[in-house]
Amino acid sequence: MPTIYLHNTLTRTKQALEPLTPGRIGMYVCGPTVYDDCHIGHLMGPILFDAVARWLIARGYHVRFVNNITDIDDKIINRAIATGEAWESITKRYTAQYLGYLKRLHVITVTDHPRCSDYIPPMITYIQDLIAKERAYVAADGVYYDVQKQHGYGKLSGRKLDDMKAGARIERNASLHHPADFALWKQAKPSEPSWDSPWGKGRPGWHIECSVMSHETLGETFDIHGGGDDLKFPHHENEIAQGEAHGGGYARCWMHNGLIQYDGVKVGKSDPRMKDAAFAKQFKADYLLDTYGAATVRFLLMQGHYRRPNDFAPTALSAARTALGKLHRQLGVLLDEPGAATLEVILARPLSETAASLRHDVVAAMDDDFNTGAAIAALFGLVAEAKRASGEVATGLLRLVRDLGRLIGLFQPGDGADTVEQQAGSDDLLAPVMTLVLALRQEVRGRRDFAIADRIRDTLATAGIAVKDAKDGASWVVAAAARPPLEAAMQVILDLRAGARVGKDFATSDRIRDALTAVGITVADGPTGATWSAER
Ligand SMILES: [Zn+2]
Repeated sequence: MPTIYLHNTLTRTKQALEPLTPGRIGMYVCGPTVYDDCHIGHLMGPILFDAVARWLIARGYHVRFVNNITDIDDKIINRAIATGEAWESITKRYTAQYLGYLKRLHVITVTDHPRCSDYIPPMITYIQDLIAKERAYVAADGVYYDVQKQHGYGKLSGRKLDDMKAGARIERNASLHHPADFALWKQAKPSEPSWDSPWGKGRPGWHIECSVMSHETLGETFDIHGGGDDLKFPHHENEIAQGEAHGGGYARCWMHNGLIQYDGVKVGKSDPRMKDAAFAKQFKADYLLDTYGAATVRFLLMQGHYRRPNDFAPTALSAARTALGKLHRQLGVLLDEPGAATLEVILARPLSETAASLRHDVVAAMDDDFNTGAAIAALFGLVAEAKRASGEVATGLLRLVRDLGRLIGLFQPGDGADTVEQQAGSDDLLAPVMTLVLALRQEVRGRRDFAIADRIRDTLATAGIAVKDAKDGASWVVAAAARPPLEAAMQVILDLRAGARVGKDFATSDRIRDALTAVGITVADGPTGATWSAER
């Protein structure tokens, strides 16, 4: 078997994958807490690790991929109390929603979706074992893990226990041995959902859920544990502590995916911008999948590297859709042809030297820490080769692009519908351009420049584009068009850009030009102002 290298967060090095059992990989990736509508943060892990699993399978491994569902949590209980709906009905609904999105995103490699509520008895046994080993203790309101007994606590995130003590401004609970001690079992308050235990009625803590579910499905020690970068501390640190206290081992390799950005700025869990409903909406799964298509969302994540952040600003999404649309257009009828070829078959196909070298680049990129971005760049190289060729050779190269892409979940039959707007001629540009117009107008409104915001709306109206403002953001629709809508939308953008240049705000003017370049529109600055031209 060829060697696959991956970056291990625990050792902070890239190392060769050496499975515990030859030919088999056990992988656990933390799943969602199901209490509210799914957002892109829930889907990044499954999409990125689906590509990892698909590549391991292509390389001949048998992969058991566990992605849990957290259906017991304070957030779920709070939602149940606030709405009066039974917690089971809330978790059932959002679990079904999550699984539906995975299906649309072609996440097919997950073999197990364990739910916490199905694992209460083994959680109790596991906690009893930690108490017996004196690694956990019973306090007034539950059972806690004793972090000071854990040699090397903090090794994943690089934190030191002394710093945690110094950093703990409020003593959460006077009966704790150390402020970083965390709950394994929480005593229930009246009217909360609860399970019987040796420590009275209660429920498990979040961290113990993952340790026990990975233990039950993959064993004491397993190959890969994945999750978002934000889970490193305390969640994954605590999983390691529990696992090592329980049986000595835990995950051998930790893989962490990068988080969400918006126009280059990190979007955190408690980001103040998320209080703005229109801003927050842009990260909701239904909005993203309905607006840009599942294939685009998957492609956007895969065109980078799983360890790096991913930008979900409209300009980035439009650019991803345009790039994917180009690939889809080149593939033509091959895109909807069903079927797939194994990597073995793909590697056996006779090719020209250049094409064979590009095929090698795809494989080498994936073997090197699952570098999907570099693999996609090589696929674009193969498309360029196909354009230089003709007849059977060209078709063979495009089939190669499709089959290599399908190994990592791209180019599925039906995906073309997601980028079809991009194929319809010059009108296809209207959607990404209008996305940019509305984003720019939102910025104008943000600085309370309502005269300009109104002028934008009026200019668009001359081309029959009606803009409607609502609480969750603006939308647009083309009614009777007196002049080409794209022309009007571009006029608005170039006016705003000219305004920015007059005000010497070159960052904004460059950002606008780059966003247009990304959708295939070139802007040229001349003595009489800027002009634009579309690539096609
Ligand atoms: Zn977890």
